[in-house]
Amino acid sequence: DRDALAALIASRLRDVPDFPKPGVVFKDFTPLLADPVAMRAIVDDAVARYSGEVDVIAGIEARGFMIGTAVAVALGVPFVPIRKKGKLPAATFTASYDLEYGTETIEVHQDSCREGQRVLVMDDVLATGGTAAAACELIERTGAQVVALDVVCEIGFLRGRERLGGHRVRSLLSI
Ligand code: AMP
Repeated sequence: DRDALAALIASRLRDVPDFPKPGVVFKDFTPLLADPVAMRAIVDDAVARYSGEVDVIAGIEARGFMIGTAVAVALGVPFVPIRKKGKLPAATFTASYDLEYGTETIEVHQDSCREGQRVLVMDDVLATGGTAAAACELIERTGAQVVALDVVCEIGFLRGRERLGGHRVRSLLSI
């Protein structure tokens, strides 16, 4: 059930204090990736929830690629990468958002999704929500529609959900 899955995930995320800078508690995803039973549980849960509801999975660089690709293969739908600026070779749409210091820019291929397709956006962690909001905006620029944002772990006190506007947000673990 959901509580058991949340407990399993919690046990497979390692808290690393003061990474990448003082004051941040980094949720290290590598113990989860190293556990195929836990990964299988996450994929099965996503398949049960989204089968027939989603035409494309979009994953946010870099850990969104890992979880998103696994779920896309299991659902039998295409996977689309959303990448940091300058990495995607063909024509892109671009979105920028503010960080604590400076800005970040992410991109998606213009031909990655088609008008009317239902897209699930996936990432490992929802923190302030800036990345996810920009990712959803990029998908909408292609003409496709965002079904939901799905993350493994949501850091609740950072209120990322509030930056996601009207989008549905689902997290397997909320802390
Ligand atoms: P944000 O835009 O603030 O919601 O940050 C989300 C992005 O940064 C995601 O792609 C996460 O992988 C990463 N991230 C932010 N905060 C953390 C954290 N405490 N632990 C792990 N990853 C994080």
